[in-house]
Amino acid sequence: MIYGRCAACKSQRRRCPSDCIFSPYFPANDPQRFAYVHKIYGGSNVGKMLQQLPEYLREQAVNTLYLEARCRIQDPVYGCVGIVSKLYQQIHDTEAELAKIQTQIAYHKLQNQQIEVESNFNALSTVDAETNLNFLPTQSNSMEQFQWPNQVPNLFN
Ligand SMILES: [Zn+2]
Repeated sequence: MIYGRCAACKSQRRRCPSDCIFSPYFPANDPQRFAYVHKIYGGSNVGKMLQQLPEYLREQAVNTLYLEARCRIQDPVYGCVGIVSKLYQQIHDTEAELAKIQTQIAYHKLQNQQIEVESNFNALSTVDAETNLNFLPTQSNSMEQFQWPNQVPNLFN
């Protein structure tokens, strides 16, 4: 066993040069990563793709190739599209749930407003009744307030 080779070179049983294009992205301690990519795209094709890319994009490209290869192996029919459509379905379900909950909130708010209006109306009518009762003169009060004139004018002269 030769140490120091990247997973790609190890898999292809070759010497790993110091400027190996695979070694930064396929470390020896993660052989599965290269195995997936190799199985779906072919190791030499991956090497060609990496050579066409500027260095700063290579890591992202390898991560994407790895993810897509892994998905294709786990789900040979749909691959990544299977995950994308599952996520779309989740978004759709969550949006439907959200709309349902928003409708329930609106309904409860409306119900709460109706209860407030009714209780305010009841409170107002109670106050009105009490106020009216206080302003109504009682029988005794009206008699005390009424004053007979001292002299009754003679209307027949
Ligand atoms: Zn290598």
